[in-house]
Amino acid sequence: MTQAVVIGGGPAGLMAAEVLAGHGISVDLFDAMPSVGRKFLLAGIGGMNITHAEPFDDFVSRYRNNTIARLLNDFGPQQLRDWIHALGIETFVGSSGRVFPKEMKAAPLLRAWLHRLRSSGVHIHTRHRWQGWDESGALLFDTREGRIHVQADTVVLALGGGSWKKLGSDGAWQPWLQAKGVSVKPLAPSNCGFECEWSAHFRERFAGEPVKNVALLHASNRQRGEFIVTEHGIEGSLVYAHSASIRDAIAAHGKAEIRIDLLPNVAEEKLRTALAKPRGSKSLSEHLRRQAKLKGVKAGLLREGQVQIDYNNPAALAQRIKSLPIILLRARPLDEAISSAGGVAFESLDENLMLEKLPGVFCAGEMLDWEAPTGGYLLTACFASGRIAGQGAVRWLQQHKRK
Ligand SMILES: Cc1cc2nc3c(=O)[nH]c(=O)nc-3n(C[C@H](O)[C@H](O)[C@H](O)COP(=O)(O)OP(=O)(O)OC[C@H]3O[C@@H](n4cnc5c(N)ncnc54)[C@H](O)[C@@H]3O)c2cc1C
Repeated sequence: MTQAVVIGGGPAGLMAAEVLAGHGISVDLFDAMPSVGRKFLLAGIGGMNITHAEPFDDFVSRYRNNTIARLLNDFGPQQLRDWIHALGIETFVGSSGRVFPKEMKAAPLLRAWLHRLRSSGVHIHTRHRWQGWDESGALLFDTREGRIHVQADTVVLALGGGSWKKLGSDGAWQPWLQAKGVSVKPLAPSNCGFECEWSAHFRERFAGEPVKNVALLHASNRQRGEFIVTEHGIEGSLVYAHSASIRDAIAAHGKAEIRIDLLPNVAEEKLRTALAKPRGSKSLSEHLRRQAKLKGVKAGLLREGQVQIDYNNPAALAQRIKSLPIILLRARPLDEAISSAGGVAFESLDENLMLEKLPGVFCAGEMLDWEAPTGGYLLTACFASGRIAGQGAVRWLQQHKRK
């Protein structure tokens, strides 16, 4: 009988293992992949944004499920930074308030952390794919040597969501938990791209082009930033920031209309006056370029208009530039998303993140039903929930197995 088993070697599972080992508990951590922390390492490739330095109340307001905010009280952005510093990794705050490790990468942090975990007695078993429970309640793992059965006093599940399957988290756990009576909200893409119907001409000309310095409005939420035109539609940070409300609108109405302000620095009236200047023999493209500085992909988007307007009417044209409608039809597949919405419902968990239907089994990380935009919010909540689940498992062992 093993004392504590953690399944899943992402940030949430590793944090739970650290808490357990810190209390002198023997921990066996299992992961399906040949190495742990693969998604964490990928998150570090474009610049690891680990948390955010904005005031705590603003920070917690970014999470869609308020329950997750409670988990951040003891281990929020500042405590996470202190924890990283204790690993010998420096952090800095970028101009947007986002916090990064000084080297911008995840690998040095993961290396230092794994070294510390192994030194504290955490046994890491890779290539062990969990397959649910057998009839006796033992955990089932498929290994290269065949199937094994593991009995444990307490278990932390930190299996991740359902995006980027090739990195290990595939959402296969959903029916196993549902069969035990656990409420699991279906996994859905979050921080994802969306599809729309581009004309063949626009797609061929502009797919892959960034659209910089624009504002996106959806569901009364207007934010500035940039996005990318893709073969299928749009993606990028500005789109991810609205992905939850866009996904909800598509679920409710079959489509979502977003509005793009192509020139957020120019007032509509000023634009109207500029566009009212005589065009003479100049083409519309030339007129837009000269009077509104609109060219390239932005001018292409304007011409792509899914609802036609009179391009010779300066007022209509100015209004269109400031509020260009784009109809989004569906989210890109979950596998392509940065993260997942849905997962184990908080109603199925107690305040220690223990499953009420499975006493002694705790859950943490992205497999829980919460979502947040990119900006370090995802990782912070994974670390914090891993810590709470680990502490819950410690208490469970103290109360039930060591009397
Ligand atoms: C491209 C990309 C960029 C990102 N950038 C950022 C960023 O900059 N900032 C940020 O905050 N977040 C970012 N994220 C999100 C962040 O990486 C995840 O939210 C986080 O890794 C989730 O942690 P987790 O521990 O819950 O799950 P995961 O990291 O997914 O780990 C789950 C682990 O469980 C294992 N597992 C799953 N099923 C089984 C099974 N049946 N048996 C055994 N093991 C199993 C998997 O192999 C995996 O190792 C990014 C994600 C992606 C895809």
